[in-house]
Amino acid sequence: MKQISLLLLLCITFGNSVLAQDKDAEQIKKIYDQALTQGKAYDWLNYLSNQIGGRLSGSVQAQQAVEYTKSQLDSLGLDRVWLQPVKVPKWVRGTPEFAYFETSPGLSTNVDICALGGSVATPLGGLKAGVVEVQSIEELESLGKEKVEGKIVFFNRPMDPTLISTFAAYSGCVDQRYSGAEEAAKYGAVGVIVRSMNLRIDNFPHTGSMGYGDTPVSKRIPAAAISTKGAELLSTTLKLNSETKFYFKQNCKQFNDVESFNVIGEIKGSEFPNEIIVVGGHLDSWDLGDGSHDDGAGCVQSMDVLRLLKTTGYKPKRTIRVVLFMNEENGLRGGNKYAEIAKGKNEKHVFALESDAGGFTPRGFSFDCSDENLKQVLSWKSLFEPYYIHLFEKGFSGADIRPLKDDGIVLAGLRPDSQRYFEHHHSENDTFEHVNKRELELGAASMASLVYLFDKYGVITSAK
Ligand SMILES: [Zn+2]
Repeated sequence: MKQISLLLLLCITFGNSVLAQDKDAEQIKKIYDQALTQGKAYDWLNYLSNQIGGRLSGSVQAQQAVEYTKSQLDSLGLDRVWLQPVKVPKWVRGTPEFAYFETSPGLSTNVDICALGGSVATPLGGLKAGVVEVQSIEELESLGKEKVEGKIVFFNRPMDPTLISTFAAYSGCVDQRYSGAEEAAKYGAVGVIVRSMNLRIDNFPHTGSMGYGDTPVSKRIPAAAISTKGAELLSTTLKLNSETKFYFKQNCKQFNDVESFNVIGEIKGSEFPNEIIVVGGHLDSWDLGDGSHDDGAGCVQSMDVLRLLKTTGYKPKRTIRVVLFMNEENGLRGGNKYAEIAKGKNEKHVFALESDAGGFTPRGFSFDCSDENLKQVLSWKSLFEPYYIHLFEKGFSGADIRPLKDDGIVLAGLRPDSQRYFEHHHSENDTFEHVNKRELELGAASMASLVYLFDKYGVITSAK
């Protein structure tokens, strides 16, 4: 008898969970159908990219993007939309940079460069010096002052093409871009040229943030990125003629901080309004392209997550917030400000999801969470299989949401296919025509589905 009732109980439990899975599958299908037929992400991105353009922090375009996205969120009928003030750095590129190398007086070859974000300018007439090529900061240190003083240091370590995650290849190189100038200045270098973070050989220089650490203002040296093609050309030329000189001119400038905003909208939770789920991307971008992949895509996908939940008739139990963070690229002020205010107000964030890896075909998500929380996510894996979303692993979430990290929260990042991302990242080549409508929409639908599941089931908290 006991065995029969146990069997019955098992059947009911199993039956219920099958029923729940069916319902979830149905809701997720609705989300995907809606995203692929009535999605708004692509139209929003078109406007952000083609009517506004690159949105560097503190620029007029960044302000236009704030106003535009706020107006679009206002039109969605959310419970609340607001701007959260945040002071951001303002760095401007100035007139286009110019560079060449000279193998003998009068015999020169022009190459494509761009100033790194945060760099100082060259002297007014430009800067010309001999070149020392190195593969790493360690190699620079081993050469020492004797070989480096008075020279331009050329960091030429390429991204590792054998790494399937191009983000891992990027991480393996980005120290030379971020710290190259600070390190080279210690040995008396007069400037720094860094190979662009790009796996393809082309003419696009890729900018990105750099820092001077504790280097006194008077000792700061200008830093620029050179296109991969330019880097190959310069490297070969240096092997043939080590006396080759490099010339570059840039007149970028750092101004005082200015006021800007994170753009926020929310749907209030019907059962647990004090539990907050955040979905977001960063609204600022570099100035060379129009910031479509980085990170216009993440912004419009995040906006569409709220719209998709609404239009499919889903009533969230928890409060779902979209946050378009300002200043991820050269300061992370928006992400830090959001977390600071959330902590100050004692807000309880349970789940945060960021899309900041391009608008390409989504493959899955990576999670910064406990083993138990990952297990919870893995129990939903089969729901994503019809959409070819297979990747659920531990890893990095997103720069803007990371400041929210505490013991309870689950942080996640959308992981699209990354093979083409670094052909566009931070360059003139990051433009709207390189974003595919369906791929962008699939990303938004995947994000909305994960948000739906976390909202419905809540985040398992470990018994402590
Ligand atoms: Zn980004």
